[in-house]
Amino acid sequence: MAKKVTSRVGDNGQRVAVEDPATERAKAKDRITPRLKESPPAKPPEEPAKRRHDMWEQSLRQLEDTASRIKLDQDTHVMLRHCKRTLEVSVPVRMDDGRIEVFNGYRVHHNQYRGPAKGGLRYHPEVSMDEVKALAMLMTWKCALMNIPYGGAKGGVVCDPRTMSEHELEALTRRFTSEIMIIIGPDKDIPAPDMGTNAQVMAWMYDTYSMTTGHAVPQIVTGKPVSLGGSLGRIEATGRGVSYVVAAIAQEKGLNVKDLRVAIQGSGNVGSNAAKALHEMGAKIVGISDVNGGISAPDGIDPFRLFAQLGPKDSVQGYPGTQNVSNEELLELDCDILIPAAIGGVITERNAKNIRAKVIVEAANGPTTNEADQILMERNITVVPDILANAGGVTVSYFEWVQGIQYYFWELDEINTRLHKVMNKAFNATWALSRRERVPMRTAAMMIAVSRVAEAAKSLGLFP
Ligand code: NAD
Repeated sequence: MAKKVTSRVGDNGQRVAVEDPATERAKAKDRITPRLKESPPAKPPEEPAKRRHDMWEQSLRQLEDTASRIKLDQDTHVMLRHCKRTLEVSVPVRMDDGRIEVFNGYRVHHNQYRGPAKGGLRYHPEVSMDEVKALAMLMTWKCALMNIPYGGAKGGVVCDPRTMSEHELEALTRRFTSEIMIIIGPDKDIPAPDMGTNAQVMAWMYDTYSMTTGHAVPQIVTGKPVSLGGSLGRIEATGRGVSYVVAAIAQEKGLNVKDLRVAIQGSGNVGSNAAKALHEMGAKIVGISDVNGGISAPDGIDPFRLFAQLGPKDSVQGYPGTQNVSNEELLELDCDILIPAAIGGVITERNAKNIRAKVIVEAANGPTTNEADQILMERNITVVPDILANAGGVTVSYFEWVQGIQYYFWELDEINTRLHKVMNKAFNATWALSRRERVPMRTAAMMIAVSRVAEAAKSLGLFP
């Protein structure tokens, strides 16, 4: 009998041909388990649910600190501590083996004072309501810092896309979209890709929304394929933005980009594109990882060669000419710039004292805990915060939305030039305030962002 072959979305956003889903799931397990056994974490990992909950608590503490610094009035502070709207949905999906599996999904609007809510959609086993709330709040600050006219939103589904077939992922995405239709819309809330999702997932969301409304609504999502009205440069935008920020901080620190040794945790959309952009600038990628572990090479890794040789499901581990390291070891590699570009809560009080980088550029959302921030500050390690460092993605998403509304599409060089301008402006404002107030860059970025949201709140007044 001929083998059943289908295809699905891979870890790096590419389609990958697979055999039948049951075989594929078994193979995925086999691929992952031995690697985890080979490189056990140096310390027992923190329980994910706790980490996620901490992320929300941590976001509130950051807001409290900012509120007292900018003397934010109590009423506005109280309102900003709450998410405007949270939606929890169950998403039943007919799996390939015939049974129905029910997934938990979330969509949260933190705030809409400055415009429609905007934020990514995450597919990951560790998604929780607390994490999504924290990420939605981060989006409010990020859009305000970049001065783009959006509020903050985020969504997530608790699932492991690596073990699902393309058909299952499509069914999950379409049902989830249908469940959250009541709160999304091109002038209400515009989803985009995040961890575990990609342009294909956005295309399914767009199609589901358009089929339901009866006409094409391309502005319902950003990060969709260019063939459907996506923007040139959106896939690479977050990683490219990270490279602009690395160049800017290097200049402020008197470092030459060509001499930089960079370690990157995560090699998905953001990590791989940041690696490529930095390699093109002349920096040396001395370490990179994925969920299974990492690799290091003091003389540098060519990310173009690495990703050209890897299949979408392959781990970077075992790449010729490199040494295997665990994800924990990768964070502590000898390097100039450390770029966490995977999950949140990875730089904690347990490892902050061991970090050897001079600068941490947060490509992931929420990778550093508040306690670690304090240790890093005392150790004179500069942290370029997530709301600045990874804002290239939402900035080009904004460009995509604007292009879609105008039905007029820009050339790639125009998009990258505009992105560079927006990122540099936000970087310069944050850097200048952090020098003037003698505070870490995260504090400065939050001061700018929260002040802008508070100003909008004041102008709006309170309904009714
Ligand atoms: P992705 O799914 O394309 O890649 C995620 C990477 O992280 C993969 O290499 C995966 O193997 C690795 N990973 C997953 N779980 C891990 C774990 N427990 N430990 C170590 N590595 C793990 O996702 P992405 O789009 O590259 O997003 C990465 C980060 O960047 C996320 O924090 C996301 O919120 C943030 N971000 C993404 C965008 C965007 O445009 N995609 C924009 C802003 C911020």
